[in-house]
Amino acid sequence: MDKDQKILVVGSANTDMVIRVDEFPSAGQTLMGHSFLLNPGGKGANQAVAAARLGGQVAMIARLGNDLFGNQTIENFRKEGLNVDGVVLDNKLPSGVAQIVVEKSGENTIVVAGGANQALNTRQVNKYYNLLQESEVILLQLEIPLDTVLYVAKKATSLGKKVILNPAPASKLPNELYSNIYAITPNETETKFLTGTKITGEESAQHAANYFHDKGVKVVVITLGVAGAFLSTPNFAGTLPTLEVEAVDTTAAGDTFNGALAAGLSKGMNWQEAVTFANKAAALSVTKHGAQASVPFLKDIQE
Ligand code: AMP
Repeated sequence: MDKDQKILVVGSANTDMVIRVDEFPSAGQTLMGHSFLLNPGGKGANQAVAAARLGGQVAMIARLGNDLFGNQTIENFRKEGLNVDGVVLDNKLPSGVAQIVVEKSGENTIVVAGGANQALNTRQVNKYYNLLQESEVILLQLEIPLDTVLYVAKKATSLGKKVILNPAPASKLPNELYSNIYAITPNETETKFLTGTKITGEESAQHAANYFHDKGVKVVVITLGVAGAFLSTPNFAGTLPTLEVEAVDTTAAGDTFNGALAAGLSKGMNWQEAVTFANKAAALSVTKHGAQASVPFLKDIQE
């Protein structure tokens, strides 16, 4: 059998600071909360960890602060088996953080300070260009500067790599980016934002997918929450169902899906197989609380 292909994630890493409260504070109020949790997060990091736990060989290009959170994050990456050669500690900017307040109904408010993530520039990418050259699957999100995302997509595509863009958080994208990615993986909200089409069934999903195809994207995967994912490729179009599970927390379901998709493709699965694998992994993640804490391992899926 061929050796597995390598995966490169160029993206964000944050530390999530989560406090539980009875009710959200109002402006000017100091409120006593209940529990405090410090969790590794950021879409790039979550997806890289998911891909590694699900059997992928994963390198990350990321930027952290040279501070407590940055050093903890890099330790966590090592523990998860990621190649951290391209992870840089910035001496001027702090690590990215997300302050999350969870109210007793489960509703939350989140404030993100991107910090060093916002300084992940094309110079850093060039410095670790070898990681791009030796990887076949490149996974991108939108929590680092768009210029950097576009640069990586163009370089990787010109090298014949498979670039997957998870367009989250949703933001307007230049046509040049669409023509330099192989696949896009929006959820329903991001699909509506990017294409203007509200997903109500397969017909609308195909309509939205065609918007991306017309701009040069070969494979479109629209994640549909409990309904699984709609896949549109040059030779297949249809909805692939997910597992029926008891959902307790959908945080990082999308990140798990994207990491799993990359891992599946790197192991030689075709798109239908990889989306089915990603549905399973993401379904398992919603049965547990937390972001990275809920990401399953390969053995969990095999069971
Ligand atoms: P979403 O970002 O909500 O579209 O979810 C991403 C993926 O997570 C979906 O494509 C499903 O594979 C999985 N997923 C999300 N919610 C559920 C759920 N309630 N039950 C099973 N799988 C889910």
